[in-house]
Order: sequence, then structure tokens, then C-alpha cells
Amino acid sequence: MTWEAVIGLEVHVQLATRTKIFCRCPNRFGAEPNTLVCPVCLGYPGTLPVLNGAAVDLAARLALALGCRVHAESFFARKNYFYADLPKGYQISQYDRPLAEGGELPLARHDKRLRLHRLHLEEDAGKLLHEAPGGAALDGVSLVDFNRCGVPLVEIVSEPDLATPAEAEDSLRSLHQVLLYTGTSDGNLEEGSLRCDANVSLRPAGARALGTKVEIKNLNSFRNVARALEAEIARQGELLAAGATVVHETRGFDAERGVTWPLRGKEEAHDYRYFPEPDLPPLRLAAERLERLRAQLPELPWARRARFTETLGLPAADAAELAASPALADYFEATAALCAAAPRTVGNWVRNELLRELKERPGGLVRAPSPARLAALVDLVERGELSAAAAKSVLGALWEGDESPRAAMERLGLAQVRDDDRLVTWIEEVLAAHPESVAELRGGNVKVLSFLIGQVMKRSAGRADPKRVRALLAAALGGAVPAP
Ligand code: ADP
Ligand code: ZN
Ligand code: MG
Repeated sequence: MTWEAVIGLEVHVQLATRTKIFCRCPNRFGAEPNTLVCPVCLGYPGTLPVLNGAAVDLAARLALALGCRVHAESFFARKNYFYADLPKGYQISQYDRPLAEGGELPLARHDKRLRLHRLHLEEDAGKLLHEAPGGAALDGVSLVDFNRCGVPLVEIVSEPDLATPAEAEDSLRSLHQVLLYTGTSDGNLEEGSLRCDANVSLRPAGARALGTKVEIKNLNSFRNVARALEAEIARQGELLAAGATVVHETRGFDAERGVTWPLRGKEEAHDYRYFPEPDLPPLRLAAERLERLRAQLPELPWARRARFTETLGLPAADAAELAASPALADYFEATAALCAAAPRTVGNWVRNELLRELKERPGGLVRAPSPARLAALVDLVERGELSAAAAKSVLGALWEGDESPRAAMERLGLAQVRDDDRLVTWIEEVLAAHPESVAELRGGNVKVLSFLIGQVMKRSAGRADPKRVRALLAAALGGAVPAP
């Protein structure tokens, strides 16, 4: 029997508001523990929550970007559970009437749209520390930091539409892009601004009914979403192959060992004793407010990818890479607009050379050479004044200071050698040094040609134009060199 996986995601997104969702404490990561708290977010008796309108706007903006139906009226509910990070003993969330339903997320790297089930607002809980700040061991105790209590969250629940771990990883990356494009969250996975639970079950290939699912909690990197699912699919596959059954439960992922492990039995909705939040009125969104939010939506990642392929002629994979963040997409577009080369050529420079240099340097894109300077560099290559190989060295030199690409090229002595006499001298030296290759070429083995061109390029220290070298080699060897 062959089995197929069915995967659905539940994602928590911290909204990029200035203050928390029900009080005026700052919404900020990394402060001293328990310094961003007040009686409201600590759940003191007698305090009352007041809804932060900015959190509602961001949540609705995200919902509209994802094509959800945003309800004119939704309700808050109490989700009751007892845990040390939850001082009130309940979380204010939304239950049977969420902010938004439906919608879909077009994936960046798969030809698929992940349908969304719902999107709702809720508050975050605090954080338990099992080691002291700074990493010292704690002797048999845990500490709790309430700074995160009341940070505004959006929870997005998908339909079980995904079939592979790669699609799940792509989904989270694609959602991350929407967060950056809409500015609704910083999407920082290390700081927990984006957290993903993955649900997965197996069923006989082609079957309609869903199998028993397992929920894997708190996956904190894009890569770990795929790794955890791979491990869990393998585990469930072995159970089913052995005739055993999958237990409906919640599991954790041990990233070091690459295995999932049982956390707890699956809780059901009735375990939480949900009831309507009596301290908050219904959340009403006026039509004008929604229209304003809709009108303010920026171009979204899928639209930008489509524009890159359809208008600028980029291959789909290049478009996906260049549109991955609004900053990179803006950089590419600005460069392409200033450059005589085709957008696809400019895209290759950004994807291959610029991104490689960025990985090796601190400061990111804001410290990189401006689009105008990269455009000028690519133009030098286009006009044959600089070889592509030498241009890579010039690019590295553009990070410091504001020298023009031409000045850097001249200072480094990397201008392309266009003097045929010098090229012919190098060619004669190479032909004299490799008589056996010349004989092979004359014998009809055209593959040696690239070897000979390579030798000339080497003598020129990358400054010769390989096309010109080929032409001059052809002239030197008569009929032995085929037309390019
Ligand atoms: P629960 O009631 O256990 O929380 P839900 O129906 O609310 O389950 O779904 C939670 C998440 O699990 C959703 O993302 C959904 O797409 C996914 N899901 C539901 N059933 C399955 C299944 N059989 N296999 C895989 N994922 C599933
Ligand atoms: Zn507070
Ligand atoms: Mg559920």
C-alpha cells in the first residue's frame, strides 16, 4: 500500500504594533524580563481590556491581502487553561466568529494556492525560561517573563491542502513574504514573531477520507517545518506499514536529533471551556474602514512575481527569488531601470553576484552599492569594456566608499584588453605551449577549443573578451575552428 501525506498549518504572527493588544505597554522584543507589564496584561482583578485599534487595522490588512472575507462583526472569547505563562488563567482569543474566514495564499515556489480556513485575533502568553538570562543553569526552577503577555497575534489556520514537506516550507516562506510586503509583522522567526504548528496525517494514496492527524508544535525555522514533517511522515508510515494505528496527539520536534516526540494527548475545544469575553464589546469594522484598508494594500508578492515574468521577461524561478522581499525586489527593479542590459541579465547579477557578496558582509542590502552603481557596472560588461570575471572583482571593491565602477576598474587594472595585438601575442604563446591540443583540434575534436580559450583568458588575467579570443583563434588556426 502506498500512502500520501495531508498537511495543514496553523501559524501565529505577532503584529508590528507599538503597544500591546489590550493595554498600553510597549510591544517590544528583548527588554529586561518583566519590565513591559502593567496590571491589565498581568491579569490583576478589576482591570479591564481596551482593544488596540492599530492591531485590528493590521490584522484586517493582512486578512485583506490574503483575500479573506473580513466580517463586519466578530467576537472575542475566553480560552481557559492553566499554565504559568498565562497570569489571567485564560487567553482572550476569537472562537466561533473570527475576524476573517476563507482566502488563500499563492505559493512562491509551487504552482499551488493554500486555501485558508480562518484568521483571528488573540493575545500572546508570557514566556517560561528554563535557564537564567545569559544562559546560567537554574537549579530545579523555571522563571517566567510576562513581557510577551498581551502582544497582539493573528492566528491563521489553513485547510489541509498540502501534500509534501516542501510545500509546507514554501507556504511559511510565502506567508513571511506577505508579512514583509504588508508591513504587518517583522516576521522574525528567531524572535518568535512567526511560529508554525504543522498538522499531518497519512491516507491510502488516492483516498478521500482523512487519516488521524498529529500536530507538531512550535516549529521555529522554515527548514525545520520541512524536517519535522519529513520525520513525522516517516514515523507514521512505519506505524501504518506495521499494521499499527497513529495516535491523535500533539508532538514536539527535536531539531538536533531530527525526530518528533510526544508532548501531550490532543486537547479538544471543549477542554478550553470557551465562552464569550464579557469585558469586550463585539468588534465592529465599518465598511469605510475596510475600504480604506483595502485601498492602501501594496502590490503583493504574487503580483510582483507575475510582473517580473510577464513584463520584464524573467524566468519564474528568478522572479520568485528576486521578489522574495520588498527590499530586494525594489533594488532589482531600480537597477534594471537604470541599466542598458536586459532585466534578466540584471536579475542574474543581483541573484548570483550581489546576493553572494551580501552573504559574506554585514549590514545587508542597505550597505550594498546603490542600484545606480550596480547598473553602471553591468553596463561596462555589456559594452565589452570589462569581462564578466573581472566585474566580480570590481563589484567587491564597490562596497567601500563611493568610487564609480569605471574608476574602480581602472584603479584595479581590470579594464578589458581590446588591443588585438596583445591578444594575438597571448594566443601565439598558448598555441606554442600546447601543440598536442592544436593537433587534436585540427583532428576534429572541437572540445579542446574551450581549453585553449581558457588558457588565453588565464594569461590575460580575465581581462580578455572570450568572444574576441575565439574569433582571433579561428583566424590563427584557419578552418579548424567551427563558427560559434
Ligand atoms: P483541531 O480541531 O484538532 O484543532 P482543526 O480541524 O481545527 O483540528 O484543524 C487544525 C489544523 O489541522 C488545520 O490547519 C487543518 O487544515 C489541519 N487538519 C485537520 N485535519 C487534518 C488531517 N486529517 N490531516 C492533516 N491536517 C489536518
Ligand atoms: Zn500591560
Ligand atoms: Mg482547531
